Amino acid sequence: MLTTCPYCEAVSDHQTPVGEGFDTPQNGDASMCGGCCEVSVFDFTVAANIRKPTDDEQDVIAAHPAVRAAALLLALRDMQ
Ligand SMILES: [Zn+2]
Repeated sequence: MLTTCPYCEAVSDHQTPVGEGFDTPQNGDASMCGGCCEVSVFDFTVAANIRKPTDDEQDVIAAHPAVRAAALLLALRDMQ
């Protein structure tokens, strides 16, 4: 699936699942950009297939352990 990050406009043609559940993203799943590390939400009603989260979605995303772990790993990658 082709996505365009709503923060940095990086285009991606693959997704790597980091949580439980489906191997393919579903509407409402969170997506972390490998370019800028911002978290978006899959929404197949928009052309980019992902959008910025609402405030309520952002609260849930920020509290999820997998998102926090992924953010740490990406930050460490950028330090190398
Ligand atoms: Zn991005």
